[in-house]
Amino acid sequence: MSILTYSARPRISLPLRFLAGVLAVLLAALALFYVVMRPPFGDLRAMATFLTITATLSLVAGYAAYRGGWLARAPRLSWALLGICALSSILTFVNVWVTARLMFASQHDLALATVLLMFAGGIAMVLGYFLSVGITDRIRVLCLAAEAVAAGRLGTRVPVTGRDEMAELGHAFNAMSDQLAAAAEKQREFETLRRDLIAWAGHDLRTPLASIRAIVEALADGVVEDTAERERYLRTAQRDIRSLSSLIDDLFELAELDAGGLKLERWPGSLSDLISDTLESFSARAQQQQVALHGSADPQVDPLLIDSGKIGRALANLVGNALHYTPAGGAIEVAARLEAGEAWVSVRDTGIGIAPNDLPHIFERFYRGEKSRSRASGGSGLGLAIAQGIIEAHGGRIWAESALGQGAVFTFTLPK
Ligand code: ADP
Repeated sequence: MSILTYSARPRISLPLRFLAGVLAVLLAALALFYVVMRPPFGDLRAMATFLTITATLSLVAGYAAYRGGWLARAPRLSWALLGICALSSILTFVNVWVTARLMFASQHDLALATVLLMFAGGIAMVLGYFLSVGITDRIRVLCLAAEAVAAGRLGTRVPVTGRDEMAELGHAFNAMSDQLAAAAEKQREFETLRRDLIAWAGHDLRTPLASIRAIVEALADGVVEDTAERERYLRTAQRDIRSLSSLIDDLFELAELDAGGLKLERWPGSLSDLISDTLESFSARAQQQQVALHGSADPQVDPLLIDSGKIGRALANLVGNALHYTPAGGAIEVAARLEAGEAWVSVRDTGIGIAPNDLPHIFERFYRGEKSRSRASGGSGLGLAIAQGIIEAHGGRIWAESALGQGAVFTFTLPK
């Protein structure tokens, strides 16, 4: 916890400015006295003496109030402001009364001046109090809003009027409150994601494990006697083990992405080579599924400063998905081109496409489209999240365009 203190450091300290102000007023009053009344030198000197005495009195009283911190001790700000008015009125009264008494001895005038001064002082105090309520009300609103935020109603805002320090405080308060609300929202999303992650990972780990366990138990108990049947069981177990190990690989990759970002080993690499290698590795599967695979790359895109292993992984996730969601007779095309000084790589397929309500979520962890969720062959829902992490770590962007039944295009960019 840190407590911030603020002390304005003007070039001239506050008491010195007070002294200078009083001196300026003293000189101005003497000048005015001289101009208006043209007094003989003796009167001017007497006036200077009286004014100096009362000015000194004001200085002492004002400085004592300042040093004593009386204003800060008032239980209410409006009382403090009232105190300022009262002190000003009393000092004015003393100044005028003492000077008047010393200078013109007419009892009648003095009595009249006294009454008028008391009246003026009273009016000043009432007026000061009345106007101070405008300030204290604004402070009270801020107080209430701060209490609301402390009670958990984040995002509470105060109305801001004017351009003074109170308005600045209001703006700062609103900004703080918005920030707190945004941070809390992020925290909530993070919590939900964490809970979902654990639930999904648990489910995805448990399902193939349960299947493997049932198979191994059946084989160990010798209940499967038929060789063909046993082979089928083993192949199922093999598939489950493959899916388990790929899920664990994905989880590791995500953990790496989260833990302070991915460590990239960037070297000048060739995107064309990467595309042909990826297509090569998927060619047998594509042939088996009767899906045509094409690749092309604009020679200008090379070379690029990339971590070839990681970009290859992202590309493989996209091509793997395209193959996964494209039925026999379809086609997949991977193309790289230079656009606006960036390398753009797109993976286009003629597959089942993505539903509009799935499209905004497909890059989220563990998110699976409605169709893939119901399919036994659906993946872990991590492939696109990993691809996005890798592309963004390279300073690029990735997005998808698709309509149900009309294939999908995934595009990512890499800075050249
Ligand atoms: P999964 O392992 O389920 O494929 P991904 O993160 O790779 O997870 O993809 C998330 C979801 O995006 C998929 O479940 C699927 O619904 C949708 N998807 C991804 N690629 C395609 C594609 N080429 N065609 C149609 N749907 C796709």
